[in-house]
Amino acid sequence: MTAVAETPLLAPVREFVAGPKNLLIDGRWVPAATGRTFDTHNPATGERITEVAWGGPEDVDRAVAAARRAFEAGPWATMRPNERERLLWRIGDLLTERAELFGQLESLDNGKSATIAQVVDTAWAADVFRYYAGWATKIEGSTISVSMPFAPPGSEFHAYTLREPVGVCAQIIPWNFPLLMAAWKIAPALAAGNTVILKPAEQTPLTALLLGELFEEAGFPPGVVNIVTGFGDAGAALAAHDGVDKVAFTGSTEVGKKIVDAAKGNLKKVSLELGGKSPNVVFADADFATAVPGSLNAWLFNHGQCCVAGTRLYVEDRIFDEFTQAVADAASQVKIGPGLDPATQLGPLVSQEQFDRVTGYLAQGLADGARALTGGKRWGDEGYFVEPTVLVDVQPQFSVVREEIFGPVVAALPFNAEQGFAPAANDSEYGLAAGIWTRDLSKAHRAAKQLKAGSVWINQYNGFDTALPFGGYKQSGWGRELGAAALDLYTQTKAVNVAL
Ligand code: NAD
Repeated sequence: MTAVAETPLLAPVREFVAGPKNLLIDGRWVPAATGRTFDTHNPATGERITEVAWGGPEDVDRAVAAARRAFEAGPWATMRPNERERLLWRIGDLLTERAELFGQLESLDNGKSATIAQVVDTAWAADVFRYYAGWATKIEGSTISVSMPFAPPGSEFHAYTLREPVGVCAQIIPWNFPLLMAAWKIAPALAAGNTVILKPAEQTPLTALLLGELFEEAGFPPGVVNIVTGFGDAGAALAAHDGVDKVAFTGSTEVGKKIVDAAKGNLKKVSLELGGKSPNVVFADADFATAVPGSLNAWLFNHGQCCVAGTRLYVEDRIFDEFTQAVADAASQVKIGPGLDPATQLGPLVSQEQFDRVTGYLAQGLADGARALTGGKRWGDEGYFVEPTVLVDVQPQFSVVREEIFGPVVAALPFNAEQGFAPAANDSEYGLAAGIWTRDLSKAHRAAKQLKAGSVWINQYNGFDTALPFGGYKQSGWGRELGAAALDLYTQTKAVNVAL
């Protein structure tokens, strides 16, 4: 048996999961229209945590109607930007105050380390709310000199642009960073004056619901933030809904394409943050001391369940054996265990389905001829744990090199510096992120230009910041989240031209 540490849950976490969890619609917590619920589980043990309202199309209708009312009339519609700023800032403060609670609840539902969920996921979510609180008062149009060549001589005009909210926004998120993805989506939308309906992933609904309580506490008017928990059909109903003006989605490329199809009916605006199979490129002149742990973090952070995971490790041939062995040695030292144990560095995967998917890819890769320098199989006999795995002897056409595994697995390939790394690194339908390790900064900047990816990290990996735009090239997405760029997703520009 895997020893699941008996870390006592905080009293507010126990209270939160003690009863069934409802949907947040129009400022009230309500059961699903059908009365149905589904269970959410602890991935470290497979045990049921609590039951959650199973929202469906009827609940989506109610939530969209509430969001529409809040957008068109009432206190939110007329609220001044500095008041929106204060409310958003308050969410940041409440998240900071309750970071331990959010961290533990996230760990319970998702499996990730409670410490990481507290100091990374929750702290960053708070930062995102504060960052966009600041933007609420800084969304500007411009005045534009117009020529109007066909107007009578001597006519005068005054033209300007207004940046207005898009309206009712549906936001569909995955299970890998449940609270953080909610923050990335909700904060810029509210800063710009929109109203939202959030659809958390069915595997991890709990921290979004706890976040929902904060909106009430902070004093947001009813209907501004609505939360519909449920499965893909609730997401599909939102994506297709004629009352929704914009849909923002993070998840698999497969579902992203379905969202595009569903959104056609009323041509709602669409932004997508999808999958990846990101290259991490290590040159022979890299600083070993930082490149080894950095390259481990690239594919192992969050148990490999990161859209940006650097799961194709390209190492210059001269150092390939030494470097991959060093990464494998570091991987084999990682402490595996339940996320609630403070000593844990690598927790379980989120679900049985994800466990089956990852072990299936491992079996296929080994059958294709890959060799595991470390790992390669399940860890323990309880929960959804998989050993960190470094695969070598892989070919570019292997599924472990081409497809997003979303687990603690990296495929390492050598490259020859004379022949260049870029064709291999760019040989993917995805283009989300990339890493480069070298002491030669000119080489690093040249390499960054060659990579077809929305984020390039030099001598680090996962170098995120709230102020930096994030999104994908190729089939990794449409649009950019974070930074000022996210405001483009949640505003539309109106040109006003006045004959004086
Ligand atoms: P998914 O894309 O199926 O689910 C993401 C969200 O979309 C969930 O909230 C889900 O309920 C919803 N959804 C599902 N079907 C829908 C539909 N037809 N219309 C609208 N919404 C729908 O992702 P998953 O099943 O959780 O994971 C599958 C794979 O997706 C993973 O193994 C991984 O490769 C990838 N993934 C990527 C990310 C990322 O951040 N890019 C995150 C999670 C998963």
